[in-house]
Amino acid sequence: MSQDQSRPSATGLDVLISGGSMGGLFTGIALARSGHNPTIYERSAGALESRGGGIVAQENIRRFLGDHDIVDPEAITTRSRERRFLTESGDVERAVSETMVFTSWDALYRQLRDAFPDERYRTGAEVTGVSPEAATAAVADETERTADLIVAAEGGQSTTRTQLYPDAEPEFASYVAWRGVVDEAALSAACVEAFDGTFTFYQGADQLILAYFIPGADGETEPGSRRLNWVWYDTLNGRDREAIFTDASGTERRFSVSPGRLRDPVRRRQRERAETLPPAFETLVADTPDPFVQAIYDLTVPAMVADRACLLGDAAFVARPHTGAGTAKAAGDATALADALASRGSVDDALAAWDRRRAEYGSALVDRGKQMGDERLNLR
Ligand SMILES: Cc1cc2nc3c(=O)[nH]c(=O)nc-3n(C[C@H](O)[C@H](O)[C@H](O)COP(=O)(O)OP(=O)(O)OC[C@H]3O[C@@H](n4cnc5c(N)ncnc54)[C@H](O)[C@@H]3O)c2cc1C
Repeated sequence: MSQDQSRPSATGLDVLISGGSMGGLFTGIALARSGHNPTIYERSAGALESRGGGIVAQENIRRFLGDHDIVDPEAITTRSRERRFLTESGDVERAVSETMVFTSWDALYRQLRDAFPDERYRTGAEVTGVSPEAATAAVADETERTADLIVAAEGGQSTTRTQLYPDAEPEFASYVAWRGVVDEAALSAACVEAFDGTFTFYQGADQLILAYFIPGADGETEPGSRRLNWVWYDTLNGRDREAIFTDASGTERRFSVSPGRLRDPVRRRQRERAETLPPAFETLVADTPDPFVQAIYDLTVPAMVADRACLLGDAAFVARPHTGAGTAKAAGDATALADALASRGSVDDALAAWDRRRAEYGSALVDRGKQMGDERLNLR
């Protein structure tokens, strides 16, 4: 039931979270820990299906896992000790000592999902519209639900964002990221040796590929059971975006084609293109069973709060993956929201402060991602 909006915001708010991926789960867990009553509405019918990709496990993600007694971050992360740049022929051009910590989307999602109670996580429950002033949401499986606060953690194609800010559209950056994951057990010893312990890059004239080890499909971190994750940023190379993003069923996708859904000619052409990569990367791409592709785009919103509705994570700002910060930003948005609600006198003050702080951060991150990507893909 909705509560008196003028009362202090410290505890007991009824919060409806739309979207049960990373942003929704970080928010649900952080708000529950602060004494609020979050319920997550996720439109997918069952557990979310992983795309299997890697994630940079930034410090704030690891802290979140530890602080909320979810899991020892060591148990679901891998490390590299060196950032290494290869020449086209595969020699090491430059190596810099640097520790990076990685995890996989599926390992992290599983831990967060297990930490949030089933009875407060509704599946097959799409939020179809919100009334921000009344903090009311229409949910596909119910008539209407009123809360004290609505948080839309609906990802880059958020319908709540479209409703609140119809002009805030994702802007295609004119290049894509081909991605893939290979089981360590399926790699040759030479390939494991080439990538083990390093965050490896090859920078071409209009392409950039990188690789790092991530935990195995069940979160295993020991050598032999991990997976090697690669991300290959490439221009369209004279192709139409539609040609790449029409999947095996003939459906034109807007932003990504999932593992196993690329059309054969698209896959073949990208394999041919891999001949321009250093040999270790060429083999890695060729040996990947189910590569996938996602469009690189930028997204900003004018504000993250409209009355009693918030946009959080990718629903608000999408920064290019070069920043390695998409999931960390969702975690940061969530903890900052819980902190603001705990430290401010009223919900309105808390939301205004959170909006200022996190919108500034999101906007700066998007700018940084644009600069990094355009430089690396030679698009300036
Ligand atoms: C299944 C899946 C796999 C992913 N795999 C990877 C990966 O391997 N590597 C990587 O770097 N990033 C991956 N991502 C993206 C990554 O999670 C995000 O970029 C980042 O973590 C921010 O998360 P988010 O929760 O804001 O958005 P998202 O992760 O995009 O989640 C949005 C969620 O909201 C739900 N939703 C959308 N609209 C509604 C609605 N109206 N009502 C109810 N629910 C709604 C969606 O079904 C989805 O679960 C994946 C996302 C998903 C959904």
